[in-house]
Amino acid sequence: MTSPEHTLVGIHFAFVTGVHRFVGWRGVAMAGVASNIPDWDGIPMLFDMQRFESGHRVWGHCVLSILFTSLLIGFIQARWDVIGRVTVWLQRTLPKTAIVAAQQDTAWLIGGFVFALIGMCAQLLHLLCDMVVSGGNGLSDWAVQPWWPFSNAAYVYPLIPWGDIGPTIILMAGIIAIAKRNAQISQTSCLTIGTLSGYLIVRGLIRGT
Ligand SMILES: [Zn+2]
Repeated sequence: MTSPEHTLVGIHFAFVTGVHRFVGWRGVAMAGVASNIPDWDGIPMLFDMQRFESGHRVWGHCVLSILFTSLLIGFIQARWDVIGRVTVWLQRTLPKTAIVAAQQDTAWLIGGFVFALIGMCAQLLHLLCDMVVSGGNGLSDWAVQPWWPFSNAAYVYPLIPWGDIGPTIILMAGIIAIAKRNAQISQTSCLTIGTLSGYLIVRGLIRGT
C-alpha cells in the first residue's frame, strides 16, 4: 500500500475501535502516523537500491522493530505531547484549522502504554496490508518477514497489485463521509473497512490468488 493508504487505514482502525472516544484525537493521529512507521526500512533504498533492497519489508516490518518503535513513540508522545505541539504550531501557521489543542491530561506512564498499544496495532495492520497489496506492473512480490532476525519465514498473499487506486477511493470516500456527517463515525469506518475487504477478496478471486 502507499503511505496515504496506510495512514487512512490507521485512522479508520482508530474510529472502528472507538479510539476517538476513549483517547481523543491524539490517539487517532497516533494511529495514522504509526501506520507508516514500518516503511522506515525503505528509506535506505533511496540512496543505494541494490544494497538495501533485501532489507525492505524486513527490518521495519518485523515484530521486534514494531514493539520497540511503538514503545518509543508511545512514551515520547505521553511525555512531551508531540502531537499537541505540532497542532499548536499548525494553528499558528494555519489560523483557520479547526483542531483544538486541549491539554493532554492522562498520567504519562499510563498514556505511554496506551499510545504504544495504538501504535503497535496500527503497525501490525500495516503488515497485513502489505501482504495483500503486492507486486504487479513489473514489480516482484515483496514478502513480509515478521519474525526476522529469528526466522526468515516470509508471507505474501497478493490480492491486488501495488498502486491499485481502489483502496484510495474507498478509504477516502469513508473519510469524506465522516467529515461531512460528523456522526456515526465508528459505523462509517466499519462500513469502509468492510467494503475494502470485499473489494480485496473479489479482486483476489479474479486475479486467481
Ligand atoms: Zn510496508
